[in-house]
Amino acid sequence: MRTATNAVIALTGLLGALATTAQARPFNDPRSERIPAIEADTGFANQPRDPACHTSTLASTGGALPASPSTLAIRWTGFANFELSYKGQIVLLDAYFDRGSNFPSLGFKAADIKRANVILIGHGHHDHMSDAASVGIRTGATIVGAPLTTDKLLAQSVDPQKIRSVSGREPMTLDFGAFKVEPILGRHGDPPKTLVDAFGAALRATTPKLTDEQLTEFAAIRSRGVQDPRVRTEGTIAYLITLDNGFRIMYRDSGGTVTDFEKSAMERIGDRVDVALVAVSASYLNTETVPRALEHVRTYRPDVYIPAHHDAAYNNLWRATEPLFQAVKDESPNIVTASRGYREPICFNTEHNISRKR
Ligand SMILES: [Zn+2]
Repeated sequence: MRTATNAVIALTGLLGALATTAQARPFNDPRSERIPAIEADTGFANQPRDPACHTSTLASTGGALPASPSTLAIRWTGFANFELSYKGQIVLLDAYFDRGSNFPSLGFKAADIKRANVILIGHGHHDHMSDAASVGIRTGATIVGAPLTTDKLLAQSVDPQKIRSVSGREPMTLDFGAFKVEPILGRHGDPPKTLVDAFGAALRATTPKLTDEQLTEFAAIRSRGVQDPRVRTEGTIAYLITLDNGFRIMYRDSGGTVTDFEKSAMERIGDRVDVALVAVSASYLNTETVPRALEHVRTYRPDVYIPAHHDAAYNNLWRATEPLFQAVKDESPNIVTASRGYREPICFNTEHNISRKR
């Protein structure tokens, strides 16, 4: 059963092996296989393993990129950070890596990131962009974000030539080799105040206070993000990413309500997406997070749903993903849900995608 529910995963560059192993294993999604990074037996006898799909080293920190041109590797690296690697290119979604001593380690530091082609920033709060400038400058990556976000990058000495400022209000496509990116104005999450206050009080009462050093550290990290209230309404961008073969990814780094811009983008493509990478709303209670996740899933209609922004500092709470998965599957039994630890790859054979009718 574990194999069936954890279905998603490692496709690798082993296309020849795919058909047979896929048939041999009971899961819903034809593109996916169990991830051998966390099981000893790959099921691919006599086949070389693609390190991009079997190791926890990011491609951007020196790890392997997928060997096969049809393999997309997705790694979650805390909060709404993801690394996408495909056809020799690396796209980072959000950039918040050096989170401070009050957070569990991601297993790498911002300074370890040596290679990236593009960085897409969903919104300018520090927990989404605090390392965007340093990583962008070191890698030479092009950085995309709303004006509020890109102004902050300019203030941190990022080369203006490397910045693309997008409002998400007009249909537009940015071309990055095998990745086509459409920025769409989304909306930041807005958890009910009563709930935030109540949980805040409970957490303050039950967890150690931050030390003075940690407060100083936090202030420095926070200063590399935007605190403008307009981030909620005009600074939160969802990205529809389409690979050169039609494989589609929707990325949304905050759990707010779906906007008309998102609805019309989905109408325009007249389709569903293959993968949705979507932030869980910040409302803690499943009675609040589940309806929001269902709203996202009903809009993007993904084959595979991968949650984001569900981890937390040591003095906070992780947001539960299983109730979301259950609710999503109660409504759409064929949706594959997947959540992995930091840096663990999820690989897709992108040749099998919705636009090609699989
Ligand atoms: Zn935010």
